[in-house]
Amino acid sequence: MAKHRKVYRFRMKPTKAQSHALNRMAGARRYVWNWALARKREHYKEFNKTLTYNALASELTALKTKPETAWLKEADSQALQQALKDLDRSFVNFFEKRARFPRFKSRKSDRARFRIPQRVKIDDGKVVIPKIGGIRIYQSQPVTETTKSATFRREADGKWYVALTAEFEIPDVALPDPDSAKVVGIDLGLTDFAAFSDGSEPIPAPKFFRESQRKLRKAQRTVSRRKNGSNRKAKARIKVARIHRKTANQRSDFLHKLTTELVREHDGLCIEDLSVKGLARTKLAKSVNDASWGEFRRQVEYKCLWHRKHLAVIDRWFPSTKMCNACGALNDNLTLQDRKWDCDCGARHKRDFLAACNIRDEGLRILAAGQAESQNARGASVRPRFEAVGVEP
Ligand SMILES: [Zn+2]
Repeated sequence: MAKHRKVYRFRMKPTKAQSHALNRMAGARRYVWNWALARKREHYKEFNKTLTYNALASELTALKTKPETAWLKEADSQALQQALKDLDRSFVNFFEKRARFPRFKSRKSDRARFRIPQRVKIDDGKVVIPKIGGIRIYQSQPVTETTKSATFRREADGKWYVALTAEFEIPDVALPDPDSAKVVGIDLGLTDFAAFSDGSEPIPAPKFFRESQRKLRKAQRTVSRRKNGSNRKAKARIKVARIHRKTANQRSDFLHKLTTELVREHDGLCIEDLSVKGLARTKLAKSVNDASWGEFRRQVEYKCLWHRKHLAVIDRWFPSTKMCNACGALNDNLTLQDRKWDCDCGARHKRDFLAACNIRDEGLRILAAGQAESQNARGASVRPRFEAVGVEP
């Protein structure tokens, strides 16, 4: 059995009192972080030795008995110990040259957050947190696994989110061969977001991103007009963050619906490896962002793995749009503007549909050959990147 990680992410709906409690918990975490960092520095100066986690953890226990810091007892003790572990981790990252030296956190520079390693449950539309209780969430999907750790964060839009990590197991046995009639080729594009080899209606590119882009520009202009340090500037900034968040949620929602349906209805998916990074340097950048191909691929990867479906990823240099699937000839004169073309052999092609068919054919070839990109091999050897599985609309 191969173990995989999955992250559920939900927006929280705290009451006023609960929001205060969350802020207090985040404040306690920041306090402990800063205190521990200071202790580590003092200790190092004095003894030229690292103050260990265990030593700090017992100092923390002692700290809670002092009257001036007794308020720390109100915070969940595991969340505070987690702060010490996080600090240790950031020292390791520093020594391994992955990060800069750990810094003190201020209310302004540090986003409110804390992590609880265990004991956080989802129950009846609520996330149940030790010492705080049940807080309503926008639960976009059921949580079927036991969750391990929970991270709470107040994002730039001022809203609290919880991310819960769960582990699930996938047997290491090979997937049965796909029924080729149930394998679909998907061509991702700019005008249509996706075209399919089975002839079903293409999915048009969502308009909301462009719309929110406009709103965003407007909101950003407002920010730059406001006086530095003013309340109105702070408010304008929050508005920008809200638009960002809303756009990300809309995009994620659109893609989740699409990818879930595709994975459910097919035995295998064939997609192109569009190197989004490469394209992002060109003029297409914005449209590429609009279309969210990278996120599409990420979702398709983990959903295929999760639902035990085949996935074939075609090399990005594969000539999917310009190869005639009747005679194999290449049309080297094809430009981005050409939506249709006729081959010398007499075949007439619609660009996106042809691409989807070619992607499917190439994908079936890859799956039959059992190449490394197929889901079988991938499931056992490569740890996929599991991130936010569900974000409410
Ligand atoms: Zn031809």
